[in-house]
Amino acid sequence: MYIELLREKLGKDNVTINETELLRHSRDESMHVASKPEVVCFPKTTEEVVTILEISRQYEVPVTPFGAGSGLEGQAIPVQHGITISFEQMNQIVDFAPEDLTISVQPGVTRLQLNKYVNRHGMMFPIDPGADASIGGMTATNASGTTAVRYGSMREQILTMTIVLADGTIIKTGTKAKKSSSGYHLNGLFIGSEGTLGVITEITLKLHGIPESTVVARCTFDSPVLCGEAAQTVLLSGINVMRMEFVNANTIKRVNEYGSYDYPEKHSLFFEFAGSSKAVEEEVSFTKELMNDLGCDHWEAAEDPEARQELWRARKEMSYAFRHIKGVKAFSADVCVPISKLPGMINYASSLLEKYSLKAGIFGHVGDGNFHTLMTFDATSEEERNRALQINEMIVNRAIDVGGTCTGEHGVGLGKKKFQAKEHGTSMELMKSIKGLLDPQGLLNPGKIW
Ligand SMILES: Cc1cc2nc3c(=O)[nH]c(=O)nc-3n(C[C@H](O)[C@H](O)[C@H](O)COP(=O)(O)OP(=O)(O)OC[C@H]3O[C@@H](n4cnc5c(N)ncnc54)[C@H](O)[C@@H]3O)c2cc1C
Repeated sequence: MYIELLREKLGKDNVTINETELLRHSRDESMHVASKPEVVCFPKTTEEVVTILEISRQYEVPVTPFGAGSGLEGQAIPVQHGITISFEQMNQIVDFAPEDLTISVQPGVTRLQLNKYVNRHGMMFPIDPGADASIGGMTATNASGTTAVRYGSMREQILTMTIVLADGTIIKTGTKAKKSSSGYHLNGLFIGSEGTLGVITEITLKLHGIPESTVVARCTFDSPVLCGEAAQTVLLSGINVMRMEFVNANTIKRVNEYGSYDYPEKHSLFFEFAGSSKAVEEEVSFTKELMNDLGCDHWEAAEDPEARQELWRARKEMSYAFRHIKGVKAFSADVCVPISKLPGMINYASSLLEKYSLKAGIFGHVGDGNFHTLMTFDATSEEERNRALQINEMIVNRAIDVGGTCTGEHGVGLGKKKFQAKEHGTSMELMKSIKGLLDPQGLLNPGKIW
């Protein structure tokens, strides 16, 4: 009945119960169990989203927004079925203001699509979660990635949003000014809310100039702790790195097997420096000196685009090197801790992997204290799966104990629900009451975060 109404209001071509589409929208890139929606809608405007939410309220059917489905915590899986809103066709650039270094986009615009558009004008959008995620999904998960050490997360890069609330009200949060002290920080509230508080239909983003010069470098150390300490030294020295990534020796070994490469199978730090030629030259030489003082091996740097690609290849391919092992499933811990605790945390995670002998890698955005423990397990072995979950739980608990968070960038979704009470304590009640206020019928992406 409600599906007929959706068809009538949105047009038959924009509402489907085709089995392939239901399956495509039943999962993301996580290991969480798939669950199909009853129907998938493809709106093109904010008003059409209002209509969908109106029907959802009238028939009390849950609604789950779906971006590119690259999430790693099952956020876009419609665990209570109902309507999935796919933003695939809501993918237009709304307003480009190069003089203000801002751009307004619909949520289905993807990261690569956006950069293709603005790169021609000498600008870039720096947040890079690796996957070609949608801007709506990145906003809803407060995504970040390799450039967070310089540009922070989506929260630091969003100026305004248009949001449809569960009751159908359209609100605009923030302003196009670079800063503001006016009112409550609603951008901060909705960014990272994983589709549980409202549906985002337009986002205005900050843009940045493309730096004149880029140089990448790589070096190795004898232990993960030394890598953590080296990363800390770079930050304490005030070097404004664009990216600074750690990859442990096991991961490099796995990448070598995956791509028949010959990278030194040691704990590695990867750097990217970007800015004016002179500044970059000085930063590279200062970092090299610091790394040598700390006892690094294999320092290599490259400026030519092809050589840069080659030097960073092991970092770029490592996730898929694990995810593409035949017959295994993979999942990743995503803790983030204060920088001073990072070496100890990496050491702790390494010792757990050794003790529980799972095929796994450790890597991460060490510039901001965020690292991943990517564990693989035999898809048919409940015992191995539980071992991986147990290791994840121990790492998360330790991270929270030292003042960190259960998720630096992947979000809560289904996998991090159980850690919310420990991490947020009494603030969790306030969060729940905000949810109750904004979505009293509990129809927006139910089953997530709480
Ligand atoms: C190989 C790989 C590497 C990754 N590395 C990183 C990384 O380094 N950093 C990082 O942050 N993430 C990383 N991710 C995770 C993922 O790319 C991010 O979580 C991304 O932000 C999800 O965007 P999406 O468009 O795929 O959203 P989806 O997975 O489709 O949805 C994610 C959440 O957003 C909600 N949502 C989507 N659109 C809207 C909307 N318009 N309004 C309200 N809610 C909405 C959904 O309901 C869901 O809760 C990685 C993923 C992969 C596969």
